[in-house]
Amino acid sequence: MTTFTALLVEKDSAGKFTRSIVERDIGSLPDGDVLIDVKYSSLNFKDALSATGNPGVSRNFPHTPGIDAAGVVLESSDSRFQPGFEVLVTGYDLGMNTSGGFGQRIRVPGDWVVKLDSLSMRDSMIIGTAGLTAALCIEKLIHMGLEKDGADVLVTGASGGVGSFAVALLSHLGYTVTAVSGKPEQVKFLKGLGAREVLTREQFMEGAAKPMLKERWAGVVDSVGGEMLFAAIKSLRYGASAAACGLVASMEIPATVLPFILRNVNLLGIDSVELPIAKKQEIWQKLGNAWRPESLEQLVQEIPLSKVSSAIDTILKGQMVGRGLVVL
Ligand code: NDP
Repeated sequence: MTTFTALLVEKDSAGKFTRSIVERDIGSLPDGDVLIDVKYSSLNFKDALSATGNPGVSRNFPHTPGIDAAGVVLESSDSRFQPGFEVLVTGYDLGMNTSGGFGQRIRVPGDWVVKLDSLSMRDSMIIGTAGLTAALCIEKLIHMGLEKDGADVLVTGASGGVGSFAVALLSHLGYTVTAVSGKPEQVKFLKGLGAREVLTREQFMEGAAKPMLKERWAGVVDSVGGEMLFAAIKSLRYGASAAACGLVASMEIPATVLPFILRNVNLLGIDSVELPIAKKQEIWQKLGNAWRPESLEQLVQEIPLSKVSSAIDTILKGQMVGRGLVVL
C-alpha cells in the first residue's frame, strides 16, 4: 500500500484553514528511522491549535495534526525497533510540523519512539500526552514533598484531558482530590474518577481577590493558568507546590510575590513535549504498572477519524470531557 488515510488541514489563499479526510502518499512523509502503522491517536488541546493554524504550534500546511500516536512498526532502520513491535510516540515535533497521529502512517526519528510492553496501544492513547503530563505534574509534586496522609490536592480544568487523568491518577495513588470544573453536569463523572469534592469555577474563585487566602491545598495540578492558577497558589499550604502545565484560560498569571515569600510555596513548570526520551520511558513504565488508574475506561470517548474535525471544535470551546481516543 503506497497511500494512507489522514485528516489534512489546508490553508487557502485567503488564509482560511479547512479540514478534510484524504488519501495521502506515504512518499509525502518526512524522512525518519521508523515507519509506523498508526492504530490509535488521541485528541489534545494542542491538536486543535494545530488544526486551526495557530502559528505557535504549526506553520507548514497542508498538514496532518496529532501529537500522539500508537501503532505497529512497519519498517525501521533503527535496530531498537523491529517490524511488528508495538510502539508509541508523543510530543517532540509530532503533529506540529511533522505529519502526526491523525493519519494511518507516521515516519519519525527512532529517538522519539517508546516500545510498549505493559500497556496496550489503546490504553496508551487513552492516557496520551494529557495523561503523561498529569503524571509528570504529580511526580514533580511528590518530588517536592507532597505526601499522601490527608493531603488535599486541587485539580483545575478537571473534566478536560489533563485534568480528568490527574483526578483519576491522584485518587488511584491515595490522595484526596478536589476538582474545579466549569461543567456542573460532570460532577458524577468526576466523583466516579475519585474526586471527593467538585467545585464550580465560581465557587472556587469566590473571595479570591484577597492578597492571601486560607491555607488549603497540599498540591495543585493546573492546566488552566490565569486567575485560577494564582488563586490556587494563594491557598497552598505552607511549603506546598502548584504544578502548572496549561493555559486554556490564560497564559498570564496575575500574581504577587506574597504567597512565595510568606508561605514558602513553589510554582513548578511542567513540559511533556521536549522531555528527554529516557524520562518519557520511565513515566510510561509507571503508567503501565503502579500508576495505571483502574478507572481508565471511564475516561474514554472513542472518536473515529471521520469525527475528529467536529471533536476539534468541541475541545476549542472547552467542552471536551475526559480523553478523546482517535481510532484510525
Ligand atoms: P482540554 O480542553 O481537554 O481540557 C481543558 C479543560 O480546562 C476544559 O475541559 C475545561 O474543564 C477547562 N477550561 C476550559 N476553558 C477554561 C477557562 N476559560 N477557564 C477555566 N477552565 C477552563 O485540554 P487538555 O487537557 O488537552 O489541555 C489542557 C492544557 O494543558 C492546554 O493548555 C494544553 O496546551 C496544556 N498541555 C500542556 C502540556 C505540557 O507539556 N505542558 C501537555 C498537554 C497539555 P472544566 O470545564 O472541567 O473546567
